[in-house]
Amino acid sequence: MKQPTVRHFDDIVTRLKASLNPVGEFSEVDTLLAGNREYPLIKIVLGQGNPRRILISGGIHGDEPAGVESICAFLENKLYKSFLNDWEFTLLPCINPSGYEAGTRNNRDNIDLNRKFKEDQVPREVTFVKQVLDQPYELDLELHEDGDSPGYYLYQKDQTPPLSSLGRAILDRVEPIHPLNLAEEIEEIPADRGLLSRLSEPDEMEWWPMALYAYTRGCNHVFTLETSTALPMAIRTEAHLRAIQTALEHVGEEA
Ligand SMILES: [Zn+2]
Repeated sequence: MKQPTVRHFDDIVTRLKASLNPVGEFSEVDTLLAGNREYPLIKIVLGQGNPRRILISGGIHGDEPAGVESICAFLENKLYKSFLNDWEFTLLPCINPSGYEAGTRNNRDNIDLNRKFKEDQVPREVTFVKQVLDQPYELDLELHEDGDSPGYYLYQKDQTPPLSSLGRAILDRVEPIHPLNLAEEIEEIPADRGLLSRLSEPDEMEWWPMALYAYTRGCNHVFTLETSTALPMAIRTEAHLRAIQTALEHVGEEA
C-alpha cells in the first residue's frame, strides 16, 4: 500500500528563508493557532516599490502541494531575476498551513478557505489574504491542483473584455510538458481546450473564491491554475512555473 506523504510546514519555511537571502523580504504577517501548533502566515515581497505588481499564491487547499512547491522552486531557481526591474512580487507560498501539513483540502477547522471571500466574519487565513489584496495587483496567479482532472486547465477573468490572449498563451506553453484537460465542460463550466472563461459575475454568486475577491479589488488579470495530481510532482511544478513565466512575459509586453 502506498504510504501517505508526510509534509512538514517547517521544511517549507526553511527552504523559503534560505532561498531569499539577500533579495527579498520575508514577513510572518500573522500567526495561526491550529490544535497545539502555531503556524506563521507568510508573505514574501521581492522588488518592493517597482511599478508593476503581481500576486502569486499557493496552498489555499492543503491537499494541493504543487502550488507550494512551485513557489519554493520559483525562488530557489531565481526565476524572478529577469523581471525584477519592473515587477514587485508578492508571494503567499502556503495560505493554509494546517491543511498542508494534514494533507487536507480544508483547514484544521474543516473550512474550505476558498469559499469564504464574500463574508466579513472569516477565518484568520482569509483575513490575511484580504489584507494583502488591499492594494490591487495587475496579475493574480492562484496555484491549485485537481485530483479528478486528467490534465491542466485554468480559470481566467480579466477586468475588461475582450478576454486577453494570456490564458491561451499559458496553456500553449504548458501543453508540451503537461497534458491539458480537453473536456468540453470542466466543473460544470464550458471549457475550450483547458480554458474556462465564462465565469460568473461577483453579484451572481452566493460565495466567492479568492479569485473573485481579487477581481472585485481591481486585479486586471486573475487566474486560477490547475494541475492534475495524477502526474508526478516535478511535471506539475514545471507546468505552474511555465504558467508564471508566460504571464510575466505576456503582460510585460502590454503597454
Ligand atoms: Zn484548489
